[in-house]
Amino acid sequence: MPSAPRSFAVIGLGTFGTTVARELARIGNEVIGIDIEERNVSAVADHISYAVIADARDEAALREAGVGDCDVALIAIGEDLEANVLATINTKMVGVETIWAKAINRTHHRILSKLGAERVILPEEEVGLHVAQVLHNPRMRNYLSMGNGFHVVNFLVPEQLGGKRLSELRLRDKFGVRSLGVMRGTDFLGTEADDPQLKVEDKLMLLGRRNDLRDFAASL
Ligand code: ADP
Repeated sequence: MPSAPRSFAVIGLGTFGTTVARELARIGNEVIGIDIEERNVSAVADHISYAVIADARDEAALREAGVGDCDVALIAIGEDLEANVLATINTKMVGVETIWAKAINRTHHRILSKLGAERVILPEEEVGLHVAQVLHNPRMRNYLSMGNGFHVVNFLVPEQLGGKRLSELRLRDKFGVRSLGVMRGTDFLGTEADDPQLKVEDKLMLLGRRNDLRDFAASL
């Protein structure tokens, strides 16, 4: 179910910040974008609700730009660690409740967490882990870590499973893996209860621990 539109402040409009800001706006949210560089602000101005040239190290400038009225702020300033940390503090000071921040390394990650960022993102590490999982098993797609040891993956049905019913795979008994459902193209074929018949290249949505998912993939 899509969430109700909310208002977001994206601070730092480099590649990462711009991508997030544009996508949030595209899916119906109000987005204020802030950057210290005029050309970065103009590049995104037509795609989001409001784009402002401001220095995020300056609390008053953030307040004036309306950051305090936003539900969520994303601090997407990259290399300049001092500016990133100050932007996080200032965003909090102007009253934003939920702050996500991009870190450049583990130490920075710790600092931002201590400053009260609800979620700290290390984009390169997160994408690196994702890529490794998909490279490791090309049939495993859209790997999503649930953060508690469990993962959701989309698994492309291989030749040898074509024609079988979902129940015949005995995913739960044999591997401790749950199936959340089967997709064919953009259609949802059904859940375990519907016991759909699989076709090669259907997408099987699986929930399980990493090793259990790996055991299932290795059994084929
Ligand atoms: P990316 O890897 O996402 O491109 P960058 O570090 O290149 O990340 O981009 C960060 C953005 O943050 C840049 O557009 C930069 O102009 C902006 N920025 C840096 N310092 C400040 C600041 N004090 N206030 C607002 N924006 C800033």
